[in-house]
Amino acid sequence: MTADLLVTGADLLATVDDARREIAGGWVAITDGAVTAVGGPADPEPDAVRTLDATGCLVTPGLVNTHHHLYQNLTRAFAPALTGGLFDWLITLYPLWARLDEEAAYVSAYVGLTELALGGCTTSTDHLYVHPRGAGDLISAEIAAARELGLRFHPTRGSMSLSVKDGGLPPDDVVQDDDEILADSKRLVDAHHDRSPGAMTRIALAPCSPFSVSTSLMSRTAELAADLDVRLHTHLSETQDEDAFCLERFGRRPVEYLADVGWMSDRVWLAHVVWPSEPEVARLGAARVGAAHCPSSNMILGSGLAPVAELRAAGAPVGLGVDGSASADSASLWLEARTAMLQGKLRHGAAAMNARDALEIATRGGAACLGRAGEIGELSVGACGDLAVWPLSGVAFAGALSDPVEAWLRCGPVSARHTVVAGRLVVEDGVPVHPGLDEQLAVHRRISERIQTAL
Ligand SMILES: [Zn+2]
Repeated sequence: MTADLLVTGADLLATVDDARREIAGGWVAITDGAVTAVGGPADPEPDAVRTLDATGCLVTPGLVNTHHHLYQNLTRAFAPALTGGLFDWLITLYPLWARLDEEAAYVSAYVGLTELALGGCTTSTDHLYVHPRGAGDLISAEIAAARELGLRFHPTRGSMSLSVKDGGLPPDDVVQDDDEILADSKRLVDAHHDRSPGAMTRIALAPCSPFSVSTSLMSRTAELAADLDVRLHTHLSETQDEDAFCLERFGRRPVEYLADVGWMSDRVWLAHVVWPSEPEVARLGAARVGAAHCPSSNMILGSGLAPVAELRAAGAPVGLGVDGSASADSASLWLEARTAMLQGKLRHGAAAMNARDALEIATRGGAACLGRAGEIGELSVGACGDLAVWPLSGVAFAGALSDPVEAWLRCGPVSARHTVVAGRLVVEDGVPVHPGLDEQLAVHRRISERIQTAL
């Protein structure tokens, strides 16, 4: 059988499959969007319509981004919000985000997903929780951008329903009522959620955080997600301020609150999870609740160092997230993987976390968070044909000869040479394949200026 794409001659192919096979001189064949064969120099390569030469490169599964707010790239490194912790940062930015509309959602997704693809990401989620009145269908707008670019996309229908007047953090004009949120959640699942293997678009439901949604919305969203059989996402245990908020408002810590509202389930993955106590880590692990680790954001906002090793040891799937572009500002999963490795060493010593652990979190771990274990995040026969080809040459890699996986993450910085989704190139020779980037950057500039103009 002739393959659609053959990626061949890699210095090393790190499959991150069940056996964690690493094949020097390895190759991967992709047909009809899925991996159809994996082999080494001794195995006969199939004929292919197209061949990509990966000489001098490391080939990995495409990286999986489990937490993001694409719209926030419209307010990156915003000067008035550079020094606050999470709550101050949010209060400064909510009024700007109230200006979102469909055009802003489309262009921020286009630019943000392009940025992710350049960093070797092939599947991204997004958490869009600001739906100003009259703004239009923001989620469908970002799905349109993902389809044009060819990235696998798991947007979440985010929501906020608890505003300042009810004791929450966001202003009144960016929250919606529970019934409106739930009806729109169902509409989006009906319109876009693809349950088939190899799906390019899946929807999850995602109330924003304990301090911005009502208790009833948390419970009712969990019931709706079970009815629709879709996944659930929210921010949890991000800061000590959140612990204090939950204790004061609910008389409970965030993880206890999560259990009370029916979220202690393997349908759930949580962003950040920085401050769970030891028993809470055990409880999350036992329930197989996933965690999206966002190391850069957690450092920039001063939130803390997440207990990644502890969560993994307890059985919780841990993935990697670049988080919103206005907190982490940069959106490279390579950078997040490296930072996760460095944080792991900082917490528990140099031997505690290595590049393979970080690669695993960035691939298989993310797949598990999104309910797609075995399908994405690994290069095995039958898995999606999503991969990244990383150059290991030039000044940054001179002398790094002994371990290509460690070199990949310890040297650099590095972007993907090629990024492939479902057997199709979305980045080729370090350049996005879709021709619209310059035009979209001009639109992005215009909309960013509008949104950032003083009230
Ligand atoms: Zn977030």
